[in-house]
Amino acid sequence: MAQCPVCKNTVNEDANKAQTGMTPGGAKEVDPAAGTRQFHDGTWYYFDTIECRNKFTRDPDSFIAQ
Ligand SMILES: [Zn+2]
Repeated sequence: MAQCPVCKNTVNEDANKAQTGMTPGGAKEVDPAAGTRQFHDGTWYYFDTIECRNKFTRDPDSFIAQ
């Protein structure tokens, strides 16, 4: 289990990465209810919600290495 760096909730990476479909443009579609992830500074970070990812994106350093 991964941990959301913003709110510290646990995140199921497998559900998070699971592909649920394909957009018409051929991009991978995932279930937004399973959370989301972002590649930052060489590491994948997992988030339970889009809101958490948005907070992280605005100020990643405040959520890393604490
Ligand atoms: Zn979170």
